Amino acid sequence: MTKGMDDRRKSLEEEYFHRKNQEAIEKLRAKMKVAEEAKAAGISSMKCPRCEGSLNESKFEEVTIDICDKCGGVWLDSGELEQVTQKETGGWFSRLWRSED
Ligand SMILES: [Zn+2]
Repeated sequence: MTKGMDDRRKSLEEEYFHRKNQEAIEKLRAKMKVAEEAKAAGISSMKCPRCEGSLNESKFEEVTIDICDKCGGVWLDSGELEQVTQKETGGWFSRLWRSED
């Protein structure tokens, strides 16, 4: 294999990953737009990833969580799990968490 071919392969890989990244960003942007529009309209855009039920915001230890009205699944946004575990120091949640170690 010549150096020229290595370079060509590398640039093709870079182009591929660049395109994949762009696609991921576009999808994320579309998702955020839907969420923003729903928020502006005053409705929850969140659908349960498990059963397609609607997620209702609820408070747990002063942390907002989303609970599915169909299957009862509980969903946390990024950072919310940390908030719950911090507030629950010494509680069942952190004991459950630590038992994983
Ligand atoms: Zn559900």
